[in-house]
Amino acid sequence: MSSDEKYINPFKVAQQQLDEAAELLQLDQATHELLRNPLRELHVTLPVKMDDGSTKIFQGFRVQYNDARGPTKGGLRFHPSETIDTVRALAAWMTWKCAVVDIPLGGGKGGVICNPKAMSQGEIERLSRAYIRQVGRIIGLEKDSPAPDVYTNPQIMAWMVDEFSFLKGSNEFGVITGKPLNLGGSLGRGDATARGGMFCLREASKILNIKLKDATTAIQGYGNAGSFAHTLGVELFGLRVVAVSDSKGGIYNADGLSFDEVFSFKQETGSVVGFPGSKRISNEELLELEVDVLVPSALENVITDANAANIKAKISVELANGPTTPEADKILYENGVYVIPDFLANAGGVTVSYFEMVQNAYNYYWDEPTVHERLDKKMTDAFHAVHKAAQEHKVHNRLAAYLVAVNRVAEVVKLRGWT
Ligand code: GLU
Repeated sequence: MSSDEKYINPFKVAQQQLDEAAELLQLDQATHELLRNPLRELHVTLPVKMDDGSTKIFQGFRVQYNDARGPTKGGLRFHPSETIDTVRALAAWMTWKCAVVDIPLGGGKGGVICNPKAMSQGEIERLSRAYIRQVGRIIGLEKDSPAPDVYTNPQIMAWMVDEFSFLKGSNEFGVITGKPLNLGGSLGRGDATARGGMFCLREASKILNIKLKDATTAIQGYGNAGSFAHTLGVELFGLRVVAVSDSKGGIYNADGLSFDEVFSFKQETGSVVGFPGSKRISNEELLELEVDVLVPSALENVITDANAANIKAKISVELANGPTTPEADKILYENGVYVIPDFLANAGGVTVSYFEMVQNAYNYYWDEPTVHERLDKKMTDAFHAVHKAAQEHKVHNRLAAYLVAVNRVAEVVKLRGWT
């Protein structure tokens, strides 16, 4: 971010979103204050031996935001611009995410300030193990369970589960989800975030009477969420994906982009940029394209009061966490953009993570159609609960999702006698 760009603190955004919901729900002051803050957080310092023989010191975090409804759960990001406030916001959103899909888990998140793109596999492995040696004391099946997120993947989860198992002296596969299949992973976890978002898109399109076959689509971000949204959107509905992007920039082709070709091009060259037959566009331009469906799948705060009025999509499926600021939400709502908010749209990942924990617990594994079917039910139910709340309270979908989720968490906080 250039210094003249205004910094938006994601945790302030998360608190502002909660405040609005708390007011509508007439939440008592103590419960509101409790839910505005993380219950616990751990800051860790990680010495890691680098390939050149030097030792580098990394900074990491694990935030356990709220565990009223069950053990905390949430991904772990490796990112150069990670901050404690970003992790706090993401942990808060995990709390609302688990509540909105009604799985018996709380919300947590982890992060390490690092640039994995500039590190070798050996360095990433040593960093991952160092992280677990530090946070191992506060995580566990009954306590808190990490998973992949931005720039972390199943291999990293495998190193972490291995390190944790040695710490405990026994195999503890359920402590971390998003693991490789032959190490206690679940079928259907890989594309679960995107698939859950696609189920929401299907439901929204029925309500809005939008035909998904050939619907023009732009996807920002081409990682775990965005690339799977491309392939699934085409496979399930025949979406015409006209633009995609990654951190290096975007590409556009009005006739549609083939997933197989773009994906293998990125595998070979490291970016989608330069894909033959496409026009180069910026990430900012991608968001403002005249498309039916927009899928923000990268980082937070990309749709703000500066560009919200230029968004032309009919539906925005937020696979990223926190892509839209509260000011932008109001503008999108007034302009009739149907937003499927992040902690609903991207809840498929944690839902299948929960399925993974259940399968690990009784050491019996489900087939893929069973995972898809159970995911579909969770997502569809959550989508309609949020849509109904939005209609009833005449509010935008994010606020409606907050109403549903915060109410569920607040009820349990009270049942447990915390407030
Ligand atoms: N990192 C994903 C998310 O933000 C998944 C979390 C999980 O599976 O625990 O929802």
